[in-house]
Amino acid sequence: MNILAELLTNEPKYRLKQIQKAWFDLSVNNYEEITTLPVELREKLKNLPWLAVKMHKILKSKIDSTEKALLELSDGELIETVLMSRESLKENKGSSEWPVEERHTICVSSQVGCAMNCVFCATGKVGFKRNLTTEEIVDQFRFWQRRLNGRISNIVVMGQGEPLLNYDNLKNALNIILNNTEIGPTKITVSTCGIPEQMDKLLTDKDFPQVCWAISLHSAIEQTRKKIMPVHRKDFLKFLVDWSQRYHKLIPSRTHFIGLEYLMLAGVNDNEKHLKALEKLANKIPRVKINLIPYNDTNSQGLSKTSQEMIEYWHDYLMKAGFVCTIRHSQGQDIAAACGQLCNNFNYD
Ligand code: SF4
Repeated sequence: MNILAELLTNEPKYRLKQIQKAWFDLSVNNYEEITTLPVELREKLKNLPWLAVKMHKILKSKIDSTEKALLELSDGELIETVLMSRESLKENKGSSEWPVEERHTICVSSQVGCAMNCVFCATGKVGFKRNLTTEEIVDQFRFWQRRLNGRISNIVVMGQGEPLLNYDNLKNALNIILNNTEIGPTKITVSTCGIPEQMDKLLTDKDFPQVCWAISLHSAIEQTRKKIMPVHRKDFLKFLVDWSQRYHKLIPSRTHFIGLEYLMLAGVNDNEKHLKALEKLANKIPRVKINLIPYNDTNSQGLSKTSQEMIEYWHDYLMKAGFVCTIRHSQGQDIAAACGQLCNNFNYD
């Protein structure tokens, strides 16, 4: 039990809800300022840290507006989280003018390190240390919310760790954010390398929020996927097709897509055979979106980037075949904030 839970042991349940609401109120900066709580309780809570994460270092990209923060946890462990900002046109009903608004997406971590050891990923090289607590996940959101002094538009749980191996804390954290902010479930995407029993569990778990899912696929050929992702289980691709159909049956909403993340590695998963295998698999998954990801260097031996021409050829082919397909624009490469690059030891000085 954490300290806050212990201090609330004899309090009515709604006190925790009042506290969680205050966490997201930018005018409140400590427990003493939560005026909805009785004075005695505020006194009891006053020495608790207001955030479970502390900024250790921050880096700003020189080539785009990405920021990466190295955050320190109460036991001294470090995690990374990323902010990506872009301008987009704002809907302006009844007017011919389209004002520009800035949209902010944050990438949050779910574990300290990761046990999955995907060959392209710097976090995997660090190994697994521990799961993040509910508060440590929530507070990556609060950290950016306070730094921006405003609204976060999207959350991607694609930082360090395999989210489904920290199931309960992830679920609680997402529910706290959804219950206390304007973010809706389709603005949250959780990425998993595919843990079948946890994927099954969330389909029958009524408390798990109906967020969007991105599956780290990286190959639609079992043997190749196993080489890239040691966690790959036999027959996972068959399972994925079945799971996707059950997911869409459960959530028939048109805004819920299944994302297939495909990191393109030269000579590993990018020839015609792989393209046809991806097309065949994607054809069996309803409402699928394919996201082609150029490889970002993580000093992994022997891996290199597929040529831009080849990535575009795949993109055009898949679009012509009728799929929604995008090429991910990697942000924050100069500060090692892009896909697979988070490892806590980038030179922050
Ligand atoms: S890609 Fe994700 S699941 Fe794989 S090692 Fe990296 S953090 Fe872990």
